[in-house]
Amino acid sequence: MKKSVFLLVLIIVMGCKSSTVIINNTDSSQNVIPKPSKGDVIMTSSSKASSNKLATSEELKEIVSFLASDDLKGRDTGSEGIEKAAVYIETIFRKNNIKPYYKTYRDSFNLKGMHAYNIVGFIEGNDETLKNEIVIIGAHYDHIGSAKKVGDDTIANGANDNAAGTSGVLEIAEYFAETRTNKRSILIALFSAEEKGLKGSEHLAKKLKAENIDLYTMLNFEMIGVPFVGRPYDAFLTGYDLSNMSAKINEYTNSNLTGFSEVSKKYDLFTHSDNYAFYKEFKLPCQTFSSCDLSNYDYYHHVDDEADKLDYNHMASLINKVIPAIETICNTPTKEITMNHE
Ligand SMILES: [Zn+2]
Repeated sequence: MKKSVFLLVLIIVMGCKSSTVIINNTDSSQNVIPKPSKGDVIMTSSSKASSNKLATSEELKEIVSFLASDDLKGRDTGSEGIEKAAVYIETIFRKNNIKPYYKTYRDSFNLKGMHAYNIVGFIEGNDETLKNEIVIIGAHYDHIGSAKKVGDDTIANGANDNAAGTSGVLEIAEYFAETRTNKRSILIALFSAEEKGLKGSEHLAKKLKAENIDLYTMLNFEMIGVPFVGRPYDAFLTGYDLSNMSAKINEYTNSNLTGFSEVSKKYDLFTHSDNYAFYKEFKLPCQTFSSCDLSNYDYYHHVDDEADKLDYNHMASLINKVIPAIETICNTPTKEITMNHE
């Protein structure tokens, strides 16, 4: 998210809620199935999502720990660090048999003489007709490289911003790559140069528009590393009033998974992350899913935005709750998520 907003948001002090134990929404008897061996598994209510393909706090921590390691030096666009991040993401795509959307996974673009690239994978839908419609799941994997020096440390590791969102998107990709339960096709996009002004997502959005894809909706994941306390939902959607996406996600998950953030509205966070590039091109519901509006995190664009600052049980809970919603978004016979008209 762009720095200008941060300074404004600091003014606002809002309360938060932590909910990282086992989640159950309605009828508890059918929901909570602890996974035998592999560590923490946070279950959601939907019986659709098959348990052993869901995200675990360990897997999320592993991805964030790599992307936000000092070795990647804050993943600035055009740097060696972001190249290492790109190779890592491509390896996960390959391991999960996620096809490149274009000839290769890299959607390259030039930014002031710098070679930059989004990483774009494709999980084709299993329905003859609906597979022609596309749902985009995205997050930016770049960060700012360095930040104000603290002690000897100048590396802006970018754990919450946005290794957290990137790890969530990779877990969602892994789930659908394995289950193939999506009738509509899913385009998995990891954007570069978000911190340079949404340059990567703008490039891809324009290209897909020119290719005349049948876009249904875009869900962008940004800063999901820490929970809110005291909010009636787990995550907010930017552009809450613009469409019925939040209501539909809550309906599909039979929960208050998403809601409205005062801070997001006040500082128009809708226009400050990669969803906006797609909204501008397609004028369709393209919104960001986040559990941090900077009122609940002190290390935005800071050298201490490190992997050990995040809550991985919370992240696993969030991702496992949103997967059934994405599954339903991919499978409804019609496009139920629409823009609200004035
Ligand atoms: Zn960000």
